Amino acid sequence: MIIVLKPDCSQQKTDEFCRLLKDNYNVKVNTWNGVHSTVLGLIGDTTAIDIDYIDAQDFVESVKRVQEPYKKANRKFHPDNTVIELANGVKIGDGSLQIMAGPCSVESEEQIVGIAKSVKDSGASILRGGAFKPRTSPYSFQGLKAEGLDLLKEARKATGLPIVTEIMKESHIDMFESVDIIQVGARNMQNFELLKELGKTNKPILLKRGLSATIEEWLMSAEYIMAGGNNNVILCERGIRTYENFTRNTLDVSAIPIVKSLSHLPVVVDPSHASGKAWLVEPLAMAAVAAGADGLIIEVHNDPAHALSDGAQSLTPAQFDKVAKKLFKLKDALSREDD
Ligand code: PEP
Ligand code: MN
Repeated sequence: MIIVLKPDCSQQKTDEFCRLLKDNYNVKVNTWNGVHSTVLGLIGDTTAIDIDYIDAQDFVESVKRVQEPYKKANRKFHPDNTVIELANGVKIGDGSLQIMAGPCSVESEEQIVGIAKSVKDSGASILRGGAFKPRTSPYSFQGLKAEGLDLLKEARKATGLPIVTEIMKESHIDMFESVDIIQVGARNMQNFELLKELGKTNKPILLKRGLSATIEEWLMSAEYIMAGGNNNVILCERGIRTYENFTRNTLDVSAIPIVKSLSHLPVVVDPSHASGKAWLVEPLAMAAVAAGADGLIIEVHNDPAHALSDGAQSLTPAQFDKVAKKLFKLKDALSREDD
């Protein structure tokens, strides 16, 4: 249930009313203070609440029941966009375009530091790189694991770029303490125990959409993290499984505006895993920016032909440079249009 208070409702009145709701109906009350109004989001069983009684209060502007099962992730509970700020000041969700780039897997110090320097020169603001890899085959390269995390930190030290890397299980959370953004991969989108534990941290979480997840299931996974108190969730559309097999997955471009209207969370798009083909990364990335994505996550490798994972979809640093230039140009043109 959403209750919008009148602009002149005092803080004291707001506090008293929240207390009454909590005590009488055993619900949690989320307060969002906007410039012109205060919105109360009630979470829990609200069936016993008499909507007419609430509406009759002279300090209440409007009241409505929320049908969607996700509450904290719901834009109705939090009308403003969530902006996630990283340690070095990079902001995701503030209307800018942030590009995360780097190899699928961290392979060596030389590789990750070299790629980090080149993607930074091309305008990337966050370095990606997998240390723990969820591979379809148990015989494929599984990542450098803890050593990979150390190498990412070396690359961060060398460039100042914050790092994003994937976690596979909750017992690793302590190991990820100094990671700037923790990625939850598509295969773990419904690993609810992992999501609950991440909800107890205050780390930004990049939550990838599951291979066959509906938008509502994806938002419910975000809700799992937020229900624990961690509101720093970034949604990542990375393609879903359809009957089409020309591409590795099918990029759901429509999910971008849909999720941005249903939720206040920032949306990042992964054109690399969506397509599986390097030549398709540019057009899909352009489509994502045009559709309103707050950022992109793109795989870049110094030697794609010999990459230990996902070489076919990886751009070379030179290709990435060209793509990044086009993306920023498009973003600039769209922003000018908005002014
Ligand atoms: C990755 O980012 O390297 C990855 C494995 O992504 P996804 O979970 O989207 O497949
Ligand atoms: Mn990959």
